[in-house]
Amino acid sequence: MGHETRMSVKEEDAGGARLWRLLGLGSRSNDRRYANMSNPRVKDRANLLDAISEFLLRHELPVSPDNLLRVHAIMTKSNIRLANKVAEREESGEPITQKWFDQQMSEGDTTDTTSSNLDRLARELDRSMERFGESTRSAHEAASDYGAQLAQQTEMVANSSSEEEVVASLAQVARAMLDRTREMEAQMKKSDEEARHLRRNLAKARRDATIDHLTNLPNRRAFEDVFKTEWMAAQAEMEPLCLALCDIDFFKSVNDTHGHDTGDRVIRAVAQALDRISDSCHVARHGGEEFVLLFRGLDLAGANAALDAARERFAARHFVDKVSGKAIGGVTFSGGLTDVFAHPDLSSALRCADEALYRAKEAGRNRIELG
Ligand code: GH3
Ligand code: MG
Ligand code: MG
Repeated sequence: MGHETRMSVKEEDAGGARLWRLLGLGSRSNDRRYANMSNPRVKDRANLLDAISEFLLRHELPVSPDNLLRVHAIMTKSNIRLANKVAEREESGEPITQKWFDQQMSEGDTTDTTSSNLDRLARELDRSMERFGESTRSAHEAASDYGAQLAQQTEMVANSSSEEEVVASLAQVARAMLDRTREMEAQMKKSDEEARHLRRNLAKARRDATIDHLTNLPNRRAFEDVFKTEWMAAQAEMEPLCLALCDIDFFKSVNDTHGHDTGDRVIRAVAQALDRISDSCHVARHGGEEFVLLFRGLDLAGANAALDAARERFAARHFVDKVSGKAIGGVTFSGGLTDVFAHPDLSSALRCADEALYRAKEAGRNRIELG
């Protein structure tokens, strides 16, 4: 029944409008105000502003910079985690208060935490390298001091002071030199170990910041980098490049019936299936139960054939909840596919794939639509 309700929502609106609805913002009746705006970008912006202000006013949230940023992230889907939480909260009918809103942020977006971790580690590494530089500088200065002292002692020998005095004095300088050298060696070794340790941590944090830990696939941020590289390479080689968005069908009911952990395992199974399509297909978790794929060297027909074959193979599988032993049955996904070079940038290609994806949902799911 729940699906019917959600489906009817999707039948009216496509793409990002689904979120609009889930957030309880009703239909885009405000569009009428902008009906005579010929530039669709201006219209989109006006709608976005409307949605942000409507959300804040409806929940009686202050118009603070923090709130504006968060609601912007929800409306533009740049923070899927928060958007899902808000959608769930609205569906449950519980109020969205400032306190609840703040709690969601402090529970943390792993990406943000990881990126601030990265900044911290990079700063520590900088400091450690600075200390290492200081040790080297002071070692250099000390070496010049010994040089000066030795020159002085040599002068003393030349001025024929007593031999004993000279030997004692030289021994003193040598001892001091040895002590200082040992001290400096220890200091440099410590700095070196510290820098090595920080470099390892930094490399791990960098990897963590690009990997989705549920599926081990690259995350959305990493995908953006891959996209830029592949876009340039494909353009240079005059190769086709296609982008697809895939979304698991009726996934909420898997969670509702079998629990979140089983839901997670289903997400992993879809991730693996998509990741196996081919080496020239990059797959990333775009958020929630949604994946983004980039096909290099395949035109729309070729990418469609590869993705559709993966969809069909996956749909033929039967899943069993390994904890309860209950049959989950078949799980399917739908996809929207577009030719990247038909768009000026990534966000426009994504929007087109998203619209195609929702046409696939409207048309009955378990299918790929072209955009
Ligand atoms: P549709 O066929 O239209 O896509 O329906 P659906 O039920 O898949 O779509 P909907 O967007 O209503 O539900 C997606 C659900 O996915 C909601 C959210 O709680 C759940 N979800 C998002 N991320 C995760 C996750 O990491 N793990 C689990 N178990 N569930 C998740
Ligand atoms: Mg989804
Ligand atoms: Mg879904």
